[in-house]
Amino acid sequence: MTTTAPKPTTRRSEDPVELESEVRSYSRGWPAVFTHAKGSVLTAEDGREYIDFFAGAGTLNYGHNHPELKKVVIDHFVEDRVVHGLDMFTDVRRQFLQTFDEKILQPRGLDYKVAFPGPGGANAVEAALKLARKVTGRESVVSFTNGFHGMTLGALSVTGNSMKRGGAGIPLVHATPMPFDDYFGQIVPDHMYLERLLSDGGSGLNKPAAVIVETVQGEGGINAARAEWLRGLAALCAEHEILLIVDDIQMGCGRTGGFFSFEEAGIVPDMVTLSKSISGYGMPLALTLIKPELDIWEPGEHNGTFRGFGPAFASATAAIDLFWSDDEFEKVTIAKGAYVESRFNQIAARFEEHELIVKGRGLARGLQLPSGELAGQVAAQAFEEGLLVETSGPDDEVVKLLPALTIPEEQLRAGLDIIEKAVAEALGA
Ligand SMILES: *Cc1c(COP(=O)(O)O)cnc(C)c1O
Repeated sequence: MTTTAPKPTTRRSEDPVELESEVRSYSRGWPAVFTHAKGSVLTAEDGREYIDFFAGAGTLNYGHNHPELKKVVIDHFVEDRVVHGLDMFTDVRRQFLQTFDEKILQPRGLDYKVAFPGPGGANAVEAALKLARKVTGRESVVSFTNGFHGMTLGALSVTGNSMKRGGAGIPLVHATPMPFDDYFGQIVPDHMYLERLLSDGGSGLNKPAAVIVETVQGEGGINAARAEWLRGLAALCAEHEILLIVDDIQMGCGRTGGFFSFEEAGIVPDMVTLSKSISGYGMPLALTLIKPELDIWEPGEHNGTFRGFGPAFASATAAIDLFWSDDEFEKVTIAKGAYVESRFNQIAARFEEHELIVKGRGLARGLQLPSGELAGQVAAQAFEEGLLVETSGPDDEVVKLLPALTIPEEQLRAGLDIIEKAVAEALGA
C-alpha cells in the first residue's frame, strides 16, 4: 500500500518574515531590517541610520555595543569562561555580587539579598510575588491602574492593560487595582481609597500580601509618581504590615537619575525587581532583591535554567564599575532629562490650544497628544525622518522617550527636532 505524504503547507509569501507569528509588534511600526547598532544609532540593511529614542525599551541605558563592555563580553568567550552554569558558583557570578554590593547597595545604605529568578523581567516579578505570598501567608496583591509588570500569569494579574490581560485566557485573580498617583487629577487625597479599604472590615478587600508599584509607569504612559505619594504608600504598607515591591525593571539602572528610581523619594522597598539594563549590554539578566529577613526560601524552591548567564554577569559588573563608581553619570542623566523636559515644554507652549501634556522624570519622558492616533502619527513620521520613538499609555497617546542615558547631546537635540516637526505636522499646525 502506498501512502501519499501530506502536502507541505504553502506559506503565504516567500518572505521569511512571514514565518514569524502575527504576535510580533515593534517590527510593524518600524518596518526596516536592522543590521548594525552603535551607541544611539541603529543602521538598517539599506544603509539608513536611525537615532534610537527607544533603547530596547530601557534595556540599553548605556547604548548599543558600548566598546568597553563589548571587550569584556568578547574576552569572556575568547577565554572559554563559563557561559551557562545554572546557579553554580562561578567567578563572574561572585564578582558581580561583590561589585553590586560595594558600588550599588552599600553606598545607598541598602541591605538586600540577591536572587537570580530567571532571565527576564517577568521572572523577577513572579519570584517577588511568590515570596511575598510565602512570607505573609496571604494571597492577594495590590497593584495600580496602568501598571505594567510582564506577560506571565502572575505578572499579568497585576498589570492594568485590558488587551494584555485578555491574552491570559483565564481569570486573573488575587490582585486588586488601586488608583495610581494623580488618577483622579489631585482631587482625592493620596491613598484615600486604599487606606479606607484596608482599615474597614467591611470593605471586601482581603488583606494583601504585597503592593507592587512602578515609581514611573513606563508602559502605562510615563506617569511619574510624586515622591510624597510614594512615601505615603510606603508608610501605609508599613502600618498594615504589607510588603512593598518596587518594580524597577524599566526605571532602574539610572533611568531616572539615581541607580534606583525610588532613591529620590527616600523609601526602602521590601523587594525590588531589576532586569532590562542590569546586564548593561542588552543580555538577559534579572534580579529580585529581598530584605534579608524575608529570604525564607528553601533551596530550589524557585528555580530556572537561565539564572546566571556568564557573559551577562561580566558585562553587568563592568557596567557598574564604569558608570556607578561616582555620581557623575547620575548628574549628566538629570541634566539631559531637564533638557528634554524644557524642549517638551516649548512644544507644548507652541501648540497650546492642543493641550499637550509633558510627563516624566530623569530620562524617561513623555509628551501626551490629544489621541493615540495623533501620537501614532508622530511616531510614524519620526520613523520616516530617521528616529525610533514609541508610544505608550492606555490609548497609546503618549510619545515615549527612552533614549540611552549615554546619548550624545547633538543626537538628543536632533531627535527632539524631528519630534517637534512631526508634532507640528500631526496637529496640522
Ligand atoms: C519590561 C518590564 C517588565 C517585564 O520584563 P520582561 O523581560 O519583558 O519579562 C516588567 N516590569 C516592567 C516595569 C517592565 O518595564
